[in-house]
Amino acid sequence: MIETHTTIEITTPYHGEEELQQTSIKRMTCNYCNGTGEILHIDDNMDREFIICPCCGGTRFVDAEITVKFKPSQYVLMKSKI
Ligand SMILES: [Zn+2]
Repeated sequence: MIETHTTIEITTPYHGEEELQQTSIKRMTCNYCNGTGEILHIDDNMDREFIICPCCGGTRFVDAEITVKFKPSQYVLMKSKI
């Protein structure tokens, strides 16, 4: 199996007020339908039909919206109290 992976690099904010960082990755191939835009549906009567992929809406691609929230590390706070 060949898979394409996208990697993002996260760096901590340079300014204190920058608590949230957001980015997006566009046009990722939909893994739910394997990029076909439709999936095979078999009902109780064993009738088969292709339906529009509920994940990508038939477009064959999805966009990833990524939000990273920064906050003080609880681990460091707990260790300093010991
Ligand atoms: Zn899909």
